[in-house]
Amino acid sequence: MTDLAVRKAKDYKSTVKPIWCPGCGHFSVLNAITKAAASLALAPDDTVLVSGIGCSSRLPAYVDSYGFHGVHGRGLAVAQGLKVARPDLTVIALGGDGDGFSIGGNHFLHACRRNVNITYIAMDNEVYGMTKGQASPTSPSDWTRSKLTPHGTGQRPFKPAAVALSAGAPWIARGYSGNPNGIARLLAEATAFEGFSFLHVLSQCITYCPAQTEWKSIVREHTGPPLDRAEEAAALFLSEDGFTTGLLYRNERPTWPPASPVTAADDGSVFARLESAFEVIA
Ligand code: SF4
Ligand code: MG
Repeated sequence: MTDLAVRKAKDYKSTVKPIWCPGCGHFSVLNAITKAAASLALAPDDTVLVSGIGCSSRLPAYVDSYGFHGVHGRGLAVAQGLKVARPDLTVIALGGDGDGFSIGGNHFLHACRRNVNITYIAMDNEVYGMTKGQASPTSPSDWTRSKLTPHGTGQRPFKPAAVALSAGAPWIARGYSGNPNGIARLLAEATAFEGFSFLHVLSQCITYCPAQTEWKSIVREHTGPPLDRAEEAAALFLSEDGFTTGLLYRNERPTWPPASPVTAADDGSVFARLESAFEVIA
């Protein structure tokens, strides 16, 4: 392994070549992850990427770290359990909008309120790409490109930032795949943050949603420091169009599990840590 001090972004790429379509936004997220890893000098042996199922969830295979390409919608459950058992690791959960906001929606809600010290990257392209282009929870209600929804979905799209805020997420940011350096900066901050950091990335699906190339003329940067009052953030997230990027909200609070008294049984083993965590729940 290359000395961490001289390790560059390219050194964090694995030898597995991505099979995403040329022009897929997820390439930018992969580049951002390796840039952030280099800027933080993350040790591959102490870093774990955990995903669910979908095009974006293939990403752990492309990074030189530990990885877990798991079960649909369950990446957050695995990532939180891992962090509770091994708090010394840097744990990053990631996946797409279908994986994270539909089948994994319940895990998303509870990860926001639980506040385990992990980062969650949701790569949102408003479509189920891997299964060939069905509407997802974030598809616009008038999206008619899928044969399954020829008259549009007729449903209001999910607002990830607003939902995350209302469920208690203490750190919320939004990136855009057209700006990988911006994602890398946000990811470095997210990883350094003590708590559950939610990074929503607008990541275009060039194959099933080619109109998303227009996002580059719509996205705008949030100006000023992140909001720290939930009321103000709620007003922003409920009124904006979902294209404001940057660190939008930060309000640190105690992480989970809370500190518990050290007992003779707590010898620092994985099971002792889990046992004390479950005692807190009971
Ligand atoms: Fe990316 Fe869409 Fe291709 Fe999947 S189908 S790899 S999301 S461009
Ligand atoms: Mg998707």
